[in-house]
Amino acid sequence: MIKIGIPRALLYYQYYPMWKTFFEELGVEVVVSPPTTQVMLSAGSSRVVADTCLPVKVFLGHVLGLVGECDYIFIPAIRSVKRRVYNCSKFLGLPDMTKAVIPESPPILDIDIDINKGKRDLYQAIYKLGRHFTWSPFKVRQASLAAWQAHLNYHQLMSSHRLTPPQAIERISATPQTEPKRLSTNPIQGTIALIGHPYLLYDEHISHRLVRWLERAHYQVLTPEMPTKDELESATARLAGREHWTYEEEVVGAGEHYLGSGVDGIIGIMTFGCGPDSLMMDMVRRQAARLRTTAFMSLTLDEHTAEAGMVTRLEAFLDMIYRRKRRQAEVCV
Ligand code: SF4
Repeated sequence: MIKIGIPRALLYYQYYPMWKTFFEELGVEVVVSPPTTQVMLSAGSSRVVADTCLPVKVFLGHVLGLVGECDYIFIPAIRSVKRRVYNCSKFLGLPDMTKAVIPESPPILDIDIDINKGKRDLYQAIYKLGRHFTWSPFKVRQASLAAWQAHLNYHQLMSSHRLTPPQAIERISATPQTEPKRLSTNPIQGTIALIGHPYLLYDEHISHRLVRWLERAHYQVLTPEMPTKDELESATARLAGREHWTYEEEVVGAGEHYLGSGVDGIIGIMTFGCGPDSLMMDMVRRQAARLRTTAFMSLTLDEHTAEAGMVTRLEAFLDMIYRRKRRQAEVCV
């Protein structure tokens, strides 16, 4: 059976169930690279210049981890999935960059997705991808319909059950990817919303297990996947007007939404060397400063970020939230 490799990085967290369904419907086996390790990150970093953003270095490390494990690697060039809203340039050139810096990679399946070119172009791109495995347009169509349904179900599952992408993928695939949640007898101390791209929030190596750390500190963690699409879209429009960047909702939309939702604090996660995020996160920071209702902190990650330094900042942030809540309670008495 033909094996397709999917790197567990970048758009994996948004689209894995859809891609997996598409390939499996066409009779292909899907292989996912293992969770990120320091070895993978160092291997990926060694192939590119130092100021490449951290998630791309991680991505290349995952591609290297798939060399010898599969017949093809799937790396789509996703330019736009919404009219006149464009992706960061790193995503546009991802297949070409990978071919250039990892010549030993298995052949790359590099479908081009740009919704602005119209439906006809999109369908042709999907058929072109499917033709690697079948000559039947009917089969490709059936696989793409099943894949789209899997994508809708995945997002519905995250939003209705307040699950993070790894938790939703675990439920769908019934293959444990994370430790089972233990029931805690300690009361919840408060609610923290995390905003940022899924490939930063849920890669436990680069985020230093931030989600688990907050949960162990007895905070309920909310993430950008939990509001509905409509809530995120209207929050993005309120704060930024017309959308320009794909995935703006994960930062601007989620930030604005949670600023008005009564959470105790918001933590923005971004990475060194990311142009779009530095603009978007600043928008949320300014709005938080204007409203003065919710504590806000941003963390910038790179490959040298030490867990101890991050934990110190988190502890100070949670301490500030605790004191703020205590002061408010005293005023109310
Ligand atoms: S949006 Fe930022 S972090 Fe993401 S790939 Fe682009 S530059 Fe890197």
